[in-house]
Amino acid sequence: MSRETLRERLEILADAAKYDASCASSGTAKRNSRDGKGLGSTEGMGICHAYAPDGRCISLLKLLLTNHCIFDCHYCVNRKSSNVRRARFTPQEVVDLTLSFYRRNYIEGLFLSSGIIRSADHTMAQLIEVARILREEHQFRGYIHLKTIPEADPELVAQAGLWADRVSINVELPTEQGLTRLAPDKNGPRIEGAMGNLQSAIVEAKDASRRFRAAPRFAPAGQSTQMIVGADGASDAQIVGKASTLYGRFGLRRVYYSAFSPIPDASAVLPLQRPPLLREHRLYQSDWLMRFYGYAPAEVQDAADAGGMLPLDIDPKLAWALKFRDRFPVDVNRAPREALLRVPGLGTKAVKAVLAARRHRTLRLEDIARLTVSVRKLRPFIVTADWRPTLLIDRADLRARLAPSPRQMELFA
Ligand code: SF4
Repeated sequence: MSRETLRERLEILADAAKYDASCASSGTAKRNSRDGKGLGSTEGMGICHAYAPDGRCISLLKLLLTNHCIFDCHYCVNRKSSNVRRARFTPQEVVDLTLSFYRRNYIEGLFLSSGIIRSADHTMAQLIEVARILREEHQFRGYIHLKTIPEADPELVAQAGLWADRVSINVELPTEQGLTRLAPDKNGPRIEGAMGNLQSAIVEAKDASRRFRAAPRFAPAGQSTQMIVGADGASDAQIVGKASTLYGRFGLRRVYYSAFSPIPDASAVLPLQRPPLLREHRLYQSDWLMRFYGYAPAEVQDAADAGGMLPLDIDPKLAWALKFRDRFPVDVNRAPREALLRVPGLGTKAVKAVLAARRHRTLRLEDIARLTVSVRKLRPFIVTADWRPTLLIDRADLRARLAPSPRQMELFA
């Protein structure tokens, strides 16, 4: 038994979990305990989502069951060869912590991952046990996200989906070469095989629930994955390509991008510097372009430079528009939704508002200005009843005019 107190172990294992970004709780089924039965809720009043300054969700109790691990992934602070303090919880301890934090309204659910102890099967069984006790013995109806272990028996991985709202398997790195070099114990085809199994189970469960009301639910919030950005030499274009393949093949709800951050006692094969956090942000923006704006992966890749990297000073939508100027200007009073969605500065809500408003009147520049943060960015790309960007779209200095001005770094920021 560990000599650390529960509080010390909580500090170690909550800190060790911070490198995993895939903790958003969107998309699950609505459940609550307003009928007086059970405990917790995935919805409704009294549940607040809190986000860390870097945008990550912190309203889930985010823990590792243990940071002991028999694997040696170079980018991971918990790898076998790392010299970190180790700790471990029993499944019952994680259950007790979850319930006590939930009752104090500190959290809305649990995000549980783990290093691999003894074997992948043993670890997976322990993770499942936490979710089973919460659901079966405590009627816990809050959100549960379980990280699953691709090396575990598929039967065990499938059990995780019966208790959890969301399951995830980290694809870790965008290329097979990167995985072989930095995570020698992991195997790309095996990771994708496990994702495929989860996808089949999710689809089958959805199909069954359409036909039988009592059909067991399986990971109703779907599956997600995470890619580490900047630990290997993969370009943004490669990352975008990998993400789109994963969305297409496994119906993922989300791909999370986590900018590699240098870890204590880092392996010598890792870069010394972290990639700019803005790179992670640009990848999220490109992800949105594919999922909500109708861009094909190749189009997002076209926004990158010759080395496959997305610009950091402007967003990928603007970068694409500047490269494909022949697609502009777009007449906001006539263009179809797909063309409006390509206009830099017009989001999905603004496009919806444009489509609704133009049914009743002809739109002027001031109407569009009300829908966007900065009409300056839009003007070169649109035509309205009273505005046409003569020559503006062809100006050689258009990029410089639209890019945000560089800011002096603050010495004491
Ligand atoms: S399997 Fe790899 S990434 Fe996961 S905890 Fe172990 S060393 Fe870290």
